[in-house]
Amino acid sequence: MDSWEEICINDSARLRLNLILFSFVITVVFLIMSIRTSVALGLPSALPTMVCGATTLTLFLWQFNRREYSAVIAWLFGLMSLAMATFFIAFGGFDGTGHVWICILPIVGTMMVSFRHTFLYNGLLLVLLFCLFRSPLYNLIPAEYAPYMRVVFPISILILTLCNYVSEFTRQRLQKQLIVMTEKFRNSAYTDPLTGVYNRRALIAHFGEADALAHGLSFAMLDLDFFKKVNDTYGHEIGDMLLCHLVLLVKKRMPSGAQLYRWGGEEFLLVLKSGDMAHLRDVLDSIRKEVAETPLVLPAQEGGSPMLLTTTVSIGGMVAASQDSIETSISQADAQMYLAKKAGRNRVMIKSPADG
Ligand code: GH3
Ligand code: MG
Ligand code: MG
Repeated sequence: MDSWEEICINDSARLRLNLILFSFVITVVFLIMSIRTSVALGLPSALPTMVCGATTLTLFLWQFNRREYSAVIAWLFGLMSLAMATFFIAFGGFDGTGHVWICILPIVGTMMVSFRHTFLYNGLLLVLLFCLFRSPLYNLIPAEYAPYMRVVFPISILILTLCNYVSEFTRQRLQKQLIVMTEKFRNSAYTDPLTGVYNRRALIAHFGEADALAHGLSFAMLDLDFFKKVNDTYGHEIGDMLLCHLVLLVKKRMPSGAQLYRWGGEEFLLVLKSGDMAHLRDVLDSIRKEVAETPLVLPAQEGGSPMLLTTTVSIGGMVAASQDSIETSISQADAQMYLAKKAGRNRVMIKSPADG
C-alpha cells in the first residue's frame, strides 16, 4: 500500500494535472469556436468567444505556474467576461454567439468566487434562473437563446458544481493528509526512535525563546551507571531494552508537567516546572530509588528461568535562576552528575546556592 506521503503527492499532482488539462481543453475548444465564428460571421462576432478563450487560457496559466499575477489576470478576464456576458445577454448578443456567454457564466463565476464558494454561487444562479423561468421577464429573452437558457445553462451549472464538488472534496482530503503528515514529520523529528521521548532537537525547539528560563525551572541530568558493561556482557539489544526500561521508570516518577529528553547515549535530561529545590530533591531521589529497586526482567533462555538485570543511575540536578541560560543550566546539571559518579554512583547531587 502507498504511504501517506505517496498518496498525498500523487493526489496533489493528479488534481493539478486534471485542472491543467481541463482548462487547456476548454481553451482549445474556444480557439476553434473563435476561428469558426470569425470565418463565418466576421471578427467582431468572434469577440465573445475570444474573451472566453482568454479567460480559460489564464486559468490554465494560473494552474500551470501558480504565480500571483496569473491569478490576477484570470480574475480580471473573468470579470470582463461576466460584464460582457451580462451586456450581450441583455441586448441580444452577437449573431449566434449568445449561448457561449450563457455557458461560460458558471465557469467565470467559479473562477471569481474561488472553488470554496462555488456551491453558494451556483446554487444562487439556479434559484435566480428558476425565478426567471417563472417570471414575465423570460418572454423578453430572444427566442434563439431560450433553449440555451432553459437547458444548456442549468446543465452546465450542474456539471460544473459536480466538478467543483470533486475538486473541493479532493482538496479537503489533501489538506487533512498534509496536516497529518506535517504532524508525523514534526513528531519524528523531535522524538528519539528508541525510547519515544523527546530528543535534543526538541529541547532546542522548546527552549529556543530567550525568556524561557524566566519562570521557575529545574534541570536534572541522568546517566546510567556502568552501561557499557551491560552492552559488553549482554549485547546491544539488551542495552537498548535497559534504556527503554529506564525511561518507563523515570516517567512513572516524574511529576506532571515535567519533560524528559534523551540528551545522548545513556544520558537523559529531565526538566521540571518548579524552582523548588526540596521538590527537586524528592523527585530525583524517588527516581534513583525506583531504578535501583526495579530490575529489568530479561526473557528466559531455553530451559532457564527469566533473568533480572539490576541497574543504577547517577543524577545531577540544579534549580535555574532567571538569569541562567539553557546551556548554563544543562552544563551545571551535568557537572553535578559527574560529581555523583565521582562520589560512587547511584546517587543524586544537587547544586546548592552556596556553590555559586
Ligand atoms: P559510567 O557509569 O561512568 O557512566 O559508565 P558507562 O559505561 O555508563 O559510560 P560510558 O560513557 O563509558 O559508556 C556509555 C555507553 O553507552 C557506550 C555506548 O556504546 C553506549 N550507548 C550509547 N548509546 C546507546 C544506545 O542507543 N544503545 C545501546 N545499547 N548502547 C548505547
Ligand atoms: Mg553511564
Ligand atoms: Mg554517559
